[in-house]
Amino acid sequence: MQMEKKDIRALSKEELRNFFVANRDKAFRGNQVYEWLWSKGAHTFEDMTNISKGTRAMLEDNFVINHIKVDTMQRSEDGTVKNAVRLHDGLVVESVLIPTETRTTACVSSQVGCSLDCNFCATARLKRMRNLEPGEIYDQVLAIDRESRLYYNHPLSNIVFMGMGEPLMNYNNVIKAISMITSEEGLGMSPKRIMVSTSGIPKMIKKMADDEVKFKLAVSLHSAIDEIRARIMPFSKNFPLADLREALEYWYRKTKSKISYEYVVWKGINDNKASVDALVKFCKYVPCKVNLIEYNPIDDGEFQQASEESINAYIKALEAIGVVVKVRRSRGKDIDAACGQLANKEV
Ligand code: SAH
Repeated sequence: MQMEKKDIRALSKEELRNFFVANRDKAFRGNQVYEWLWSKGAHTFEDMTNISKGTRAMLEDNFVINHIKVDTMQRSEDGTVKNAVRLHDGLVVESVLIPTETRTTACVSSQVGCSLDCNFCATARLKRMRNLEPGEIYDQVLAIDRESRLYYNHPLSNIVFMGMGEPLMNYNNVIKAISMITSEEGLGMSPKRIMVSTSGIPKMIKKMADDEVKFKLAVSLHSAIDEIRARIMPFSKNFPLADLREALEYWYRKTKSKISYEYVVWKGINDNKASVDALVKFCKYVPCKVNLIEYNPIDDGEFQQASEESINAYIKALEAIGVVVKVRRSRGKDIDAACGQLANKEV
């Protein structure tokens, strides 16, 4: 039986160099192929004209080069663009371009579906089908960078890993993709402009701190009370807030990088004083800011956006302890491109 060939773009430069050494060639060959794959965007081994025919055939025997295809592209009234991205095996993920006056942000996916089970999120209903390869993550960014130049006349300025999936459950591939995005052979983007959002997996947050990553961290908190959090994000039963707190303290000690908490206020769930007090307390542990995200309804009625008044109670209490709060209005709602709405409805 033939083994399925590996996507060559899943290899780091080091791994590619080692591959050539193991195959009795020079490590330098790895650099050449790497350059073809990333700087020159080669789609076939045949394109690699300064690599000998024999070597190209050997690569062909061992690897494939997978590329994504942007299937449909929808544009919202507010300028948000949603790409349905077809992968080599036919599966689809979505990514979003969010323009503002001063920047364009790419919101990219890290998994097909999601490993987690947040009750309020449409992506969670898809379950996790597979992890994305580094090249598949990178290509989403590349596609959005092109659209940003085309529609808004400037390159992409920021990236958030807030599309489909839990990035920390696909950690290695996300890290490889980011290292390509930030390297000179790739897009040369500063890691400070990249934010990885997690639902809060303590062990992986610590690992990121140990790995001395340079990008920013966001945590989808939604409640600072264990019982409430477990009700709306059932997986979090395994990750109590005390563990999350400890991991975040560790992260801050090592990186000195402020954390952003993502927080939706829902009617009858976390729009009470106890919830506000708990968040205020939680925000004192580590330097942070809070993004209050508008709720984007997904078909059922269990979750409803809380009143303006309860949101103001949060803002007032957080500002009183000096925490910066931003209220994030939804973008791209009309094309199902807003937070939590990515669920491949069109395919
Ligand atoms: N799994 C990661 C990355 C996804 S980010 C994480 O949870 O952080 C997507 C963001 O949108 C998260 O903050 C998530 O909690 C939020 N979200 C999910 N469903 C939503 C909805 N229906 N309305 C508003 N925000 C939602």
